[in-house]
Amino acid sequence: MSDYEDYACFEDCKNKCRACSIGPIYDKVVLSTGCKTNPKVMIIGEAPGKDEIEAGEPFVGKAGKLLRLVLKNCGFCKANTLISNIIPCRPENNKFPQDVQLVKDCYDRWLKNEILLLQPDYMLLLGAQPLKYILNMSGITNLRGKWYDYTLNKVIKCMPTFHPSYVLRKQYMKEGKIIKRDFERDIKMVATQAGLVV
Ligand code: URA
Repeated sequence: MSDYEDYACFEDCKNKCRACSIGPIYDKVVLSTGCKTNPKVMIIGEAPGKDEIEAGEPFVGKAGKLLRLVLKNCGFCKANTLISNIIPCRPENNKFPQDVQLVKDCYDRWLKNEILLLQPDYMLLLGAQPLKYILNMSGITNLRGKWYDYTLNKVIKCMPTFHPSYVLRKQYMKEGKIIKRDFERDIKMVATQAGLVV
C-alpha cells in the first residue's frame, strides 16, 4: 500500500519535499510527466538536469529529445506512459549522489510510492541508477535488453537499457551505432510486449 491516498495528494507532497540534502540547493522538484492514472509503462531516468529544472519536466534536454523521438516512433504517448526519475531534484554539480542511503530514502519516499499508486505493467529503466535502486543489480551493459521482475503490490516487468545521455556521448565512437541500435531495440521490445501501437 502507498503512504498516500491518491496521486494528487502524493504530487502535492512531493512538490513540497525538502526532506534531504539533494534538493534544497536548487529548491525545485521535478514532477513526473505523462499518464498519471494507470500508465501501462513507467520510464525511469536518473535525476533532472539544468534543462529539466528550468522546464519543470523530466527529459526535455538533448538526451530527452533523443529519448522522446524513439518513444514516439514506438507508440509511447501521454495516454499510456509516465516518465519519471529515481530522484526528483537536481543533484549538486549535476552528479548523481554517491550517498546510497540518501538515494534509497528518496526512492522509498517518492518513486516507490508512485509505483505503488500507479501500478504500471512495465518499466523501462534508463541507465545504471534505476538498475541499482529498483532491481538492486549492477552492470547495465550485460543486463540490458532482458526482462526482470520487480515485485511490489504486483509483479512489474522491467527492461533495463542504456541511458540516452550515454547513447549521445558514444554516438561518434566506433561502438556508437551498436549502442544506439540496442537502445532502440530495447525500447521497441517494451512497446511490443506492452501492446503499444504506432
Ligand atoms: N537525465 C535523466 O536521467 N533524467 C532527466 O530527467 C534528464 C536527464
